[in-house]
Amino acid sequence: MSEMDADVIVVGAGPSGLTTAAELAAQGARVIVLERRTAPVQSRAGTVLPRVLELLDYRGHAERFIGRAAAIRKNPFLLFHIWAGMQPVHWRLLDTEFPYRLILPQSVTEEVLDEIVSEASVPVHRGQTVVALSQDADSASVTSEDEHGTRRTWTARYVVGADGGRSAVRRLAGIPFEGHDGTFTGIIVDLPLDMKWPAGRGMADNEHGWGASFPFGTDGTTTRFNLVHAERRYADKSEPVSVDEVRSCIRDIFGLDLEFDHLLWASRFTDAMRVAGSLRADRVFLVGESARIHYPASGVGMNFCIQDAFDLGWKLGRVVSGASPASILDSYEADRRPVIEGLLESVKAQCAIQFDFSAEGIAFRRMFARDILPLESANREIGLQLNGLSTAYTTARAGAEGAGRPVPPLILRTAEGQFSSAQLLREGELLLFDLTGDGTFEDLEAPGLKIISGVLPNPPEQWRTLTAALVRPDGFVHWTTTERNVDDATVRDVLADWVELP
Ligand SMILES: Cc1cc2nc3c(=O)[nH]c(=O)nc-3n(C[C@H](O)[C@H](O)[C@H](O)COP(=O)(O)OP(=O)(O)OC[C@H]3O[C@@H](n4cnc5c(N)ncnc54)[C@H](O)[C@@H]3O)c2cc1C
Repeated sequence: MSEMDADVIVVGAGPSGLTTAAELAAQGARVIVLERRTAPVQSRAGTVLPRVLELLDYRGHAERFIGRAAAIRKNPFLLFHIWAGMQPVHWRLLDTEFPYRLILPQSVTEEVLDEIVSEASVPVHRGQTVVALSQDADSASVTSEDEHGTRRTWTARYVVGADGGRSAVRRLAGIPFEGHDGTFTGIIVDLPLDMKWPAGRGMADNEHGWGASFPFGTDGTTTRFNLVHAERRYADKSEPVSVDEVRSCIRDIFGLDLEFDHLLWASRFTDAMRVAGSLRADRVFLVGESARIHYPASGVGMNFCIQDAFDLGWKLGRVVSGASPASILDSYEADRRPVIEGLLESVKAQCAIQFDFSAEGIAFRRMFARDILPLESANREIGLQLNGLSTAYTTARAGAEGAGRPVPPLILRTAEGQFSSAQLLREGELLLFDLTGDGTFEDLEAPGLKIISGVLPNPPEQWRTLTAALVRPDGFVHWTTTERNVDDATVRDVLADWVELP
C-alpha cells in the first residue's frame, strides 16, 4: 500500500464538507479537504434550524454560531417557520433546548465551520478542483487540478464527496443521479433596501404568485426576496434577472411599488429534483447536495445536508481511528436514505400546494392555514418534518423506548457532578447510561465508550422508568431498557452494533 496523505479526503468545503471534516477530526481521524473555490459565494441559506443547533451543541459549538448571529442582529432568533409558504410552524412545540431558528447567512455558517476545522488542524486546500478518482481494496485516490492546471494525486483510506449538486465525485464513482430537470424557476434577489416590514419580514401570495422577503446579510441594508411568479416562472434558468422584472413581480405579488435602481445579487433557482442511486460506492461516500438536489422548499436544505455530515462523520471517524469495525458504515445509508427520501416527498408536496395559483389552490391554502396548521399535533408534526425527524432511525434496537430518536434534553446527576446530555456528548463518544445508580456496567470497556452511572433528578416522562440506555455520538438513542437487572450479555450484544468488545 502506498503512503497515504490522510485517513479521509473530503472533496468540497461547503457546509457538508466542513461539517464532515470537523466530525472526522473530532474522532481523531487525519483529514484533508480539497475545495475548488478560492473565495466565498453569495449565501443561499439564511437560517440554522433547531436540530442542527442541537448537533452543534453536542460538540460545544452552538454558542459560537449564536454569538456570530447576535453580532449581526440584535435578535437573531425566529420562533416559527414556514411550510409550503404558510406560517406559523411553532418551534416551541418541539422537545428541544433550541426552540427557534437562528438567522445566519450561509457564508457566516461556513466561516464558523471553517474556523472549527482549522482549530482541529485540518488542512483545507483551496483552488483544487477534483478531476479524477480511483479506488482499490485498501485505498481511494483523487486527482485535483489547481488554477494553473497543475495536477496532484491524493490518497486516503476513504473519500467523501461533499462537492454539491454537480458532484464530480459522484460522477467519477459511477453513482447514478436520477430524477427530473426543473419544470419552473423562481427568483432569489438581494435588493439595496432596508425594509421596515412588520417584524422585519413579509410574505404574500395571490393569483400572480408567491413571495417572501426578509432582512439579509450582515450590514442591515439588504432585503432578500424569494419570488415565484405565475408567468415568470417559465423563464429559463439562464435568463438574467432584470430590475424591471423584479419590480413588476413584487408589484404583482406584494402590491408594492419599491424604489431601487440596481440588484445587489440575483439568481434563478429551479425545482429540479435528483437523488443519488447510492450514498456509497465502496470507499467513496456522498454527503449533502452531492446526494440530492431539490427546490429549496421552506429553506431547510443545508440543515439536512449538515445532518448527513454529522451521521457519516462520527461513523467514518470511529472506523479510521480503530474505535469501530468498518461494518458500521452500512448504517449511514440505512439512516440517511429514508430521511432524504422523506425530504424529497415533503418538497414535492409543498410545491404542489404552494405554487397552485388557481382560485382552487388559493382556497386550499387559506383553509389549510386557517384550520389545519394551528392544530397542535399537525403543527408539531410539520416541525419535526422540517428538522428531518419525522421517522425514527431503523438501525436502532426496535421496540425500545425512544430508540432511533434524539435523546431529549436531560440533566444527569453523577458522583462527579450534574451534567446535561449535550455536555456528556462533547467528546463524541458512545454513551452507556446506567440509571440504576449501582454501577452495573463498571467492568465494560471499549474504545470511544463512556459509561455514566447516575440518576435523573427530573426525568422527562418517557425516561422515568428506564434503567439503562445507549446513546450515539450524534445524540440518537440506540437502545433503552426498563429491566431492573440488565445482564452483561444483553449489553454486550447491543454494544456490538457499534464496537468490537474484547
Ligand atoms: C435559492 C436557494 C435558497 C436556499 N435557501 C436555503 C435556506 O434558507 N436554508 C437552508 O437550509 N438551505 C437553503 N438552501 C440550500 C443550501 O444552500 C444547500 O443545501 C447547501 O449549500 C448544500 O451544501 P453542500 O455543502 O452539500 O454543497 P455546496 O454548498 O454546493 O458546496 C459544495 C462545495 O464543493 C465545491 N466543489 C464542487 N465541485 C468540486 C470539485 N470538483 N473539486 C473540489 N471542490 C468542488 C464547491 O465549490 C462548493 O464549495 C438554498 C438553496 C438555494 C439554491
